[in-house]
Formats: sequence, C-alpha cells, structure tokens
Amino acid sequence: MWQGLKSIIAKVFPMTISIHPSVDKGVQQPQADGFSGGQLLCKCPSEKVIVTVTAQSAHNHVCGCSKCWKPKGATFSMVAVVPSDSVTVTSHEEKLETIDESALIKRHACKGCGVHMYGRVDDPTHAFNGLDFIHTELSGATGWSAPEFAAFVSSIIESGTPPDQMDAIRNRLRELGLEPYDCLSPPLMDVIATQVAKQNGVLN
Ligand SMILES: [Zn+2]
Ligand SMILES: [Zn+2]
Repeated sequence: MWQGLKSIIAKVFPMTISIHPSVDKGVQQPQADGFSGGQLLCKCPSEKVIVTVTAQSAHNHVCGCSKCWKPKGATFSMVAVVPSDSVTVTSHEEKLETIDESALIKRHACKGCGVHMYGRVDDPTHAFNGLDFIHTELSGATGWSAPEFAAFVSSIIESGTPPDQMDAIRNRLRELGLEPYDCLSPPLMDVIATQVAKQNGVLN
C-alpha cells in the first residue's frame, strides 16, 4: 500500500527527484566553442587542492555507481574524461590520497574534504588507459562539455535508492535527455569490448 502510494507520488511530482544539482534544472550546453579546460578546486575552506586541466572534457555523464564522488544529497555523480597528460595538480598535492589502489580508476581524493579531484587509469591493457576521470562541477568555468547519458543507473539501489523509484528516475533522466544505461553507454562498452577482443586475438 505504502509502496504503491510512494510510486504514485513520484509520478505526480517528478520534480522532487534530484539527479544531480548540475542537471536538475535542465542540462546546460557549453556556451563557447574552443573551450580548453580550467581549474578544479576541492571543497576545503582554505588550502584548497587545485587541479589544472588543459583540455575540453569528453563523454561527460551522470553516474550511479557507488565509487564516484558525488555532492551531498545527489543521487548521481557527474563525471567526464580528459587525457591524463592534460591534468596537473597545481596546489596542495600533499593533501591527496588514492582511495583504492586495486581499482581500475585510481581516484585521488582530498584528505580534508573527501572530494575526488581526479581518477587516473594507468593500465596499458585497458581501453581507458591514459584517461583521467574528472568532475567538471569543481570548476567555476562554464564551457565544459555537457553530460550526454546516465551510466550504471541500477547501481543507485546499492546506495539506498528504493527499487520502486527506478521507473520515475529513468523517466526523469530521459526527460533531461540523459538516456539511462545500466553499464556505460554503447559506444564506450564497444571500445572496451574491442580492446578485449584484440588482446584475445579474435579481432585484429
Ligand atoms: Zn579539500
Ligand atoms: Zn561512477
């Protein structure tokens, strides 16, 4: 009964669903061509970690996995990739620690505020080698590439979202133009599978 009522409420009041503060009012497209990066700042009140990025982001998306950093209250993180060689820590590198050394993405978090400043893939066998995952919302600049899809949507249940809200959440994502996938987007999944096939010798 209560579950049914909750799903009706979610359908009648779709705006009560918060995906991420950067997209909840609609996905903003970047204002200018030729954008070439900016500075990412951690959330510490002083002695901020600063990461300087000298490239436009690609494959920006909202992510429902439990590993990506997300702002307080957000259901999804928002994360994009840039080439690793465009990323430099320019202030307070000593405050960074790697969250999980065994993960494919080595997420470097600020020990003061917990924000993930960049996540590096440093595995020559993986298709994502040479890419850093970044959260463009940590930058004051507005020209970053806009989020294009939603990844690992079903995984938000693992972080506590009730399964009966999933229809409403997927509907809201589609309304925002962020097609929901329960893994990565098809182009990215194809890139990963192609790399595996080449390593196994079934594709040239
Ligand atoms: Zn910090
Ligand atoms: Zn994630």
